[in-house]
Parts: sequence; structure tokens; C-alpha cells
Amino acid sequence: MNVVVCVKQIPDPADPGALNPDHTLKRDGKLILDESDSYGVEMALQLVDAAGGGEVTLVSMAPNAETAGLRTALAMGAAKAILVSDEALKGSDALGTAKVLAKAISRVDAPDLVMTATESSDGYTGTVPEQIAGLLDLPSVTFAKHIEVSDGTLKVQRQTELGYDEVTCPLPALVSVTAGVVEPRYPSFKGIMAAKSKPVDQVTVADLGLDAGEVGWGGAAQEIVSVEPAPERKAGEIIEDDGEAHHKIVEFLDGLKVL
Ligand SMILES: Cc1cc2nc3c(=O)[nH]c(=O)nc-3n(C[C@H](O)[C@H](O)[C@H](O)COP(=O)(O)OP(=O)(O)OC[C@H]3O[C@@H](n4cnc5c(N)ncnc54)[C@H](O)[C@@H]3O)c2cc1C
Repeated sequence: MNVVVCVKQIPDPADPGALNPDHTLKRDGKLILDESDSYGVEMALQLVDAAGGGEVTLVSMAPNAETAGLRTALAMGAAKAILVSDEALKGSDALGTAKVLAKAISRVDAPDLVMTATESSDGYTGTVPEQIAGLLDLPSVTFAKHIEVSDGTLKVQRQTELGYDEVTCPLPALVSVTAGVVEPRYPSFKGIMAAKSKPVDQVTVADLGLDAGEVGWGGAAQEIVSVEPAPERKAGEIIEDDGEAHHKIVEFLDGLKVL
């Protein structure tokens, strides 16, 4: 069973974020593995183990030939990675990113499954997975909380507001994984050492056969016209209980028309 996992490398959320003059996020420092993607990596490793063979390949698009986040996922147990890094990618919108990732995935020999997170922690448009599936003409199953594969069929428990749906579809397919549904393993010391020599195939936009005008600012159909701080939340009203507080609460809820 061969699984491709798309992993985004993002600025450390613990650091204060900064914007470029064109309103894009500064990504020139060290990037780390997006925690959202660690669940997909863990699920993929478990699926390969359960199948008794195969491997996990990582695919990432990131500036400055960044591999720190990839090395974390390789240390967890992924076998190899493809990194797309190119100055021409600056300004890529979500569809541009999906085009690049789809082309990079096409370089992997016959993957049975492509996995992503439901949404990234920094951009969180939640649109890239379905765009990749569309571009590769794969069935797409979203919000997976549990995945099983048997006899070439994918069985997914798909998270819903009330519980989950059971969805089946043929392989190959693309599945987006809900955060928090498995416990990602900590890389062992042996895994960290092994990750240093695992192959990371670094490719450019031209290597993927894409025209520079299809990606980056040239290909972006969106423009960030301004960025405003989120409005501060107003302080709530504190009701001291003098024995009559319940009346005030009922009145308040009545005003909201929730009773
Ligand atoms: C006009 C514009 C300009 C932009 N310019 C830049 C820029 O210069 N530099 C920049 O870094 N970003 C830029 N962005 C942001 C960038 O487009 C998004 O971060 C990117 O398209 C992915 O969107 P997302 O994080 O919302 O993906 P989501 O759809 O929320 O991601 C879901 C999942 O898809 C996979 N995925 C998404 N992105 C990647 C990736 N890069 N590699 C591997 N897997 C991935 C992951 O599994 C991820 O969890 C720009 C956006 C716009 C609109």
C-alpha cells in the first residue's frame, strides 16, 4: 500500500507572525510541520503497517528549500519526500498550490491513496484537498476520522455534526483527515537519525512541467487587498446573583430569541 501525504511546512505558530508588504505571511524563517498534517502522516503509517507493505511519500510546497517540517515527518517513519520550492511560486493562491501539489503527486509511482489535512493551521482555506482531487480526477472523501482499506476499497468514517457517516469508494482516492483523530507518534532518536539520510527530491516549477504563469502571482486569481486586525471582543455583562439573577438571564436569552 503506497500512500502520499501532503504536508504543509508553516511558520511556528508560537512565534508572533508577520506580514510582507504584499500582505502575505512572512515565511522566510524556519518552518515546521503543520500539526494538522501530523495526523495524516500517522494514519498513513498505520495503513501501511496494516497492509503489511508499501511506503509513505511526503509532498510539500515550501519556500527557501525548507525541509525542517519534512524531516519531522520522515523521522516519524515516512520513506521519502518530494519538495517543490521555487521563487516563481511566490504569491500562489490555493488553486496554484493545488496545481503544484497535483503535479508533484503525479511523480509518485502508482499511489493507492493521497492524504491531506482538512485545513492547514496558517491559511486554512480548506480548499486545497478537493482541488487536488479535481485536478487528478480522484474521488474525494473529506473529514475522515477513521480509515480502513480492504480489497481495493476505501472505507471511511466521515465526521458529521451528529456523529459520522460511513463512506466507501474505490482506490486510488484522496482523503482529508480531521485533526485530533489519532495520536501522532513522537519520532524516536533512531527515527531522527534515519531521517537525515532519507531522500528529499527537490523540484522546481519547470521540473513539474508547469508554466511559471500558471502559479505564483501571475497565476493567482485572488488578490489580498488589505489585512485588518480582528475586532476586539467586547467585555460581557456580569450579573451578580442577588437572588433575582435568573430573571435577568431569562430576559437576556429571551432577547436573543433562543428560548
Ligand atoms: C493572493 C495570495 C497570495 C499568496 N501568496 C503566498 C505566498 O507568497 N507564499 C505562501 O506561502 N503562501 C501564499 N498564499 C497562501 C497560500 O495560497 C495558501 O497557504 C496555500 O494556497 C494553501 O492554502 P491553505 O493553507 O488555506 O490550504 P488548506 O486547503 O487549508 O490546506 C489543507 C491541506 O492541504 C495540504 N496543503 C496545503 N498547502 C500545502 C503545501 N504548501 N504543501 C503541502 N501540502 C499542502 C495540507 O495537507 C493542508 O493541511 C497566498 C494566498 C493568496 C490568496
